[in-house]
Amino acid sequence: ADAAQTLGFQAEVKQLLHLMIHSLYSNKEIFLRELVSNASDACDKLRFEAIDQPDLLAGDTDLHVRVDYNKENRTITISDNGVGLSRDEAIANLGTIARSGTKEFFSKLTGDKQKDAQLIGQFGVGFYSSFIVADKVTVRSRRAGLPSADGVEWISDGQGEFTVSQIDKADRGTEVTLHLREDEDDFLSNWKLREVLRRYSDHISLPVQMLKEEWDKDKGEQVKQDEWESVNQASALWTRSKSEVTDEQYREFYKHVSHDFDDPLAWTHNRVEGRNEYTQLLFIPKRAPFDLYDRDARRGVNLYVKRVFIMDDAEQLLPSYLRFVRGVIDSADLPLNVSRELLQESRDVKAIREGSTKRVLSMLEDMAENKKEDYATFWAEFGQVLKEGTGEDAANIERLSKLLRFASTNEESDAQVVTLADYVSRMKEGQDKIYYVTADSYMGGYNSPQLEIFRKKGIEVLVLWDRVDEWMLSHLRKFDYKELASVAKGGLDLEAMADDNEKKHQTEVAEQFKPLVERLQESLKDRVKEVRVSSRLVDSPSCVVVGQNELSPHLQRMLKAAGQ
Ligand code: ADP
Ligand code: MG
Repeated sequence: ADAAQTLGFQAEVKQLLHLMIHSLYSNKEIFLRELVSNASDACDKLRFEAIDQPDLLAGDTDLHVRVDYNKENRTITISDNGVGLSRDEAIANLGTIARSGTKEFFSKLTGDKQKDAQLIGQFGVGFYSSFIVADKVTVRSRRAGLPSADGVEWISDGQGEFTVSQIDKADRGTEVTLHLREDEDDFLSNWKLREVLRRYSDHISLPVQMLKEEWDKDKGEQVKQDEWESVNQASALWTRSKSEVTDEQYREFYKHVSHDFDDPLAWTHNRVEGRNEYTQLLFIPKRAPFDLYDRDARRGVNLYVKRVFIMDDAEQLLPSYLRFVRGVIDSADLPLNVSRELLQESRDVKAIREGSTKRVLSMLEDMAENKKEDYATFWAEFGQVLKEGTGEDAANIERLSKLLRFASTNEESDAQVVTLADYVSRMKEGQDKIYYVTADSYMGGYNSPQLEIFRKKGIEVLVLWDRVDEWMLSHLRKFDYKELASVAKGGLDLEAMADDNEKKHQTEVAEQFKPLVERLQESLKDRVKEVRVSSRLVDSPSCVVVGQNELSPHLQRMLKAAGQ
């Protein structure tokens, strides 16, 4: 074996370690969840690699996670016989954070404990959570397929450096030993560890084991026996029937698959039978991840084939506008050796994608109907992404349009709470369009002079200012047979709604201002198409409108700003 080599953590890791210890201390037992979760992932990866290379299993096919403690040494050890780590993998995976958006994540930290804890939760706490309770962590590992002499030992006190050395390790897999900080002795107990493990790992599909303990009369204490026993149910949660799964188990499972820290907002669990057979367990997070708009961000759900883990972040299984959904899809039809490329062409995947999209929409519809507060939370976090669906998923545009929420002049606030159906139910006698104004901000839209005539006539106008709105409006043309119409576009049909008196008045006014209109027309002739007397303004003397088929002023400004 060579001498130990000392290496420095990536700067971000140092920052994270520091933060983790300080912000997550009140929730310190999550280290166990994270380490068991990693051990389970490692076993999943081995099973997947063994599909093509059965030799990797080397006769040891009972994959498991084991947790043990040592009172004298004050250590806890979490071990697995999963895929293990080579020396290079240990250096790369335990010394750096390779995730996209890491820089952005750090730039968002505020120093406020609670806010930062939330953010770290979204980022995924992971392996480094060990240092919340440990002042030294030893990882001993051997990659499946490598000889026993090629084991690696990784040691760090979480202060900025770690050492790696080559070791001899008889068994494949990883062993993480935590040397507990002072005052963490609570964890050195069979009872305590079991209690935490039951809470956090009952959904893990492998056995999570601890040594059996029995009361020793002579010693007057519990004594460890020579036998491992499972602490959890060890069956894949999504394969159990709904009635057997508690809400608590669903929540913990969500945290495992999503690497989120928070509870999910909602979930849907179904077994689909028929031409395509699959099980889906899909969750909606409570909060948008910081990298929701980052193209390289992790997204998508975990794909299993007949309970064998195939890949995480399988983005082909749901459309991009549902990229915030997390969970598991387990297919009975796909081949075990399915690759990301194959997924793109597979007809089974297409069916799964359509079915899963419908399920998510049903879940949202149900929430919108029965849990309005949750839906408001959902809308605030993911509404803008859902709007992308109007362009991406023409087949479901009707269902999507009912899920949309808008700010409106009816509410006199920027709260996006009005549905298109609400709007339609309040339409005035003779009104046949759904009117909206787009702007850079709510106030910009709300104060637009275009709205004066609508106010005067008591006609509601939707106020839109999200970046995605113009894109949405170019696809969402109608709702309930009523056209969506911009207040800034020409040909306002409000005349149809004027009573006889008003019409007479308009004709008179038009006559009276004819000379002025002609003069204006003459002097502006190169810059506008037409000058006309309009009934749309009440307090402002004039405004610019665009033709029915032209870009709205807001979109023109946006394009100009983008240099086009
Ligand atoms: P994540 O699980 O989100 O990838 P973690 O911080 O929990 O992030 O773990 C970092 C990486 O370390 C994992 O992606 C994996 O490559 C490696 N790792 C951690 N624990 C184990 C283990 N028990 N066996 C094999 N690899 C592991
Ligand atoms: Mg992890």
